Amino acid sequence: MERIGAFVDGASRPALSGAWYASEDPFHAAPWIEVAACDAADVDAAVAAARRAFRTSGWRERSASDRADVLEAVAALVQERAEELALDEVRDAGGTLRWAFGACIPGTADVFVKMAQLVREAPEVEARALEVPVESENLVEWLPIGVVGAIVPFNFPMAAAAWKIAAAIAAGNSIVLKPSPLTPVTALRLAALCTEAGVPPGVVNVVPGPDGALGEALVRHPGVDMVAFTGSDVVGRAVMRACADAPKAVLLELGGKSPVIVRDDAPLDLTVPGLLFGTFFHAGQVCDSGTRILVSRAREAELLERLAAAAAALRVGDPMDPDTDVGPLASAAQQRRVAGWVDDAVAQGARVCCGGSVGPSGHSYLPTVLGGVTPDMRVAREEVFGPVVVVIPYDDEDHAVAIANDSPYGLAAGVWSADVDAALRLARRLEAGTVWINDYHLLDASLPFGGTKRSGFGRELGVAGLRAYQQTRHLHVGRMEPKPYLALLLGDR
Ligand code: NAP
Repeated sequence: MERIGAFVDGASRPALSGAWYASEDPFHAAPWIEVAACDAADVDAAVAAARRAFRTSGWRERSASDRADVLEAVAALVQERAEELALDEVRDAGGTLRWAFGACIPGTADVFVKMAQLVREAPEVEARALEVPVESENLVEWLPIGVVGAIVPFNFPMAAAAWKIAAAIAAGNSIVLKPSPLTPVTALRLAALCTEAGVPPGVVNVVPGPDGALGEALVRHPGVDMVAFTGSDVVGRAVMRACADAPKAVLLELGGKSPVIVRDDAPLDLTVPGLLFGTFFHAGQVCDSGTRILVSRAREAELLERLAAAAAALRVGDPMDPDTDVGPLASAAQQRRVAGWVDDAVAQGARVCCGGSVGPSGHSYLPTVLGGVTPDMRVAREEVFGPVVVVIPYDDEDHAVAIANDSPYGLAAGVWSADVDAALRLARRLEAGTVWINDYHLLDASLPFGGTKRSGFGRELGVAGLRAYQQTRHLHVGRMEPKPYLALLLGDR
């Protein structure tokens, strides 16, 4: 079986213990590659390499424009190696070929291109002259933070790694990234491409390992200056508690239970395919999935019927088959979790309008539409992270907004309407970091992404996402002349 090592200090190498673990292909439910089984000693080595590179590699001293050139070279290599990266991603994570070639590869390359553009354009120094209490020149410099410890989830392994690596290194940091134990391969490939593109050894490091304590070892490591975590809100809170002990900066991108409001003027022939995409894309393993569809009571039955028919027609199967619409979930545990949520919903009174059982192969689960759901049911409040959508009726727009916002999460939301002004008014009332009107899931690396409430805080991507990986230094330049303000201490002397 093929093996892939950890990526530390510019080279791929076995774990220091020499141990390996198998990563599974979730469609065949069988191991397909062996991965270095890192432990805390490897985290130590990677953090040490990152610290050394931060201090001595010259990466942070290079101009923003030089760093941007290297990021663009990474993007070019991602495009050049599209085929092998896409196939690795499909085998490791179970997303479809269509997703891999149509979204994952271009999306990953685009993050490097856009971060290059942003770091070129964002001012590195802002100057301000002040006259009070004396004349001075003031410079605010945007600097890297140091060594970033990054943890990414299993669902979009390469793109999630790219979000963190591109922003961290664009800003001049070094990074140690821990991929999900389930889907480590493409983050490792990406790190190697960064080195090939000219990022100095030690600036980008990736330490994979089987489920365990690796994430905590990274977060708690005294050599890590900032933590960027994407994952569940439960683990996110543990990460934040660990960061509080240092303390160190933390960025949290957590889960969601995103509401999508269908206004009465939304034509269902255009809206239903959009709702399907918002819910079942990537087997629903997307943090911002529109998993709570809110529709007026008058249209509930029609929407449920059309949505269920369309969902039942989705082809669930081998992600390598170009005809497959929905691939497997990432693991047997994930499949069991999703089945458990549906069973729980049915026990609470929900009605299965389509799906509601495991799929024909691998760890798949059938696209599932649940009716008869009330906003207080667990399935309407908690994240399922699979192909399950609930439809909830509302009485009027105020009621729809109240249901939408009555959620512990605040990552994303959607509005479907033929009246864009009315949709905009509605969108502004929703508590979410991103609101799509008549679209869903569309992101661009030049725009910020992140949530409120239990979905976390801080932003990735966009200028805000670059700034999240920077800190400021204020340089005050005074004049060599008598200082009237010294009288505050010295009086008339
Ligand atoms: P998860 O269960 O939170 O796990 C993420 C990682 O955290 C694991 O790889 C685990 O690795 C590590 N971990 C566990 N305990 C830790 C601790 N105490 N300290 C530090 N790290 C620890 O998430 P997942 O199952 O991989 O991904 C699904 C979740 O990600 C969903 O909730 C989804 O909504 C969210 N997500 C959010 C976004 C976003 O942008 N908002 C995007 C995608 C996914 P070790 O066991 O090796 O330590």
